[in-house]
Amino acid sequence: MAKSKCFYCDGLVFEIQTVEILDCAHQHCFIQCTKCGMPVGAVESYNIGQLLSKQSERDAIFRASTHDRLLSIERAFRRIEQALLKRSSLPIDGEAGL
Ligand SMILES: [Zn+2]
Repeated sequence: MAKSKCFYCDGLVFEIQTVEILDCAHQHCFIQCTKCGMPVGAVESYNIGQLLSKQSERDAIFRASTHDRLLSIERAFRRIEQALLKRSSLPIDGEAGL
């Protein structure tokens, strides 16, 4: 089997190193030569706990927003219902004099 080597120093051993990339949503790791530090690849590194926490926050905001919208719709229906009930209790035109 062919063995990978660093194109810069011919090193044969590699390590994974977490790196911070500005304005990048996900953390990345470089696969780099242990001898000279030359990166030979990069992979995304997911912090599943952090991702779940962020998703949970988004879900909570969505639920609260949905709940507020449902309450608003419910209040609007109540107003419509009350207006219809009020209207139905009024005498129909022409029947008042009977
Ligand atoms: Zn190297």
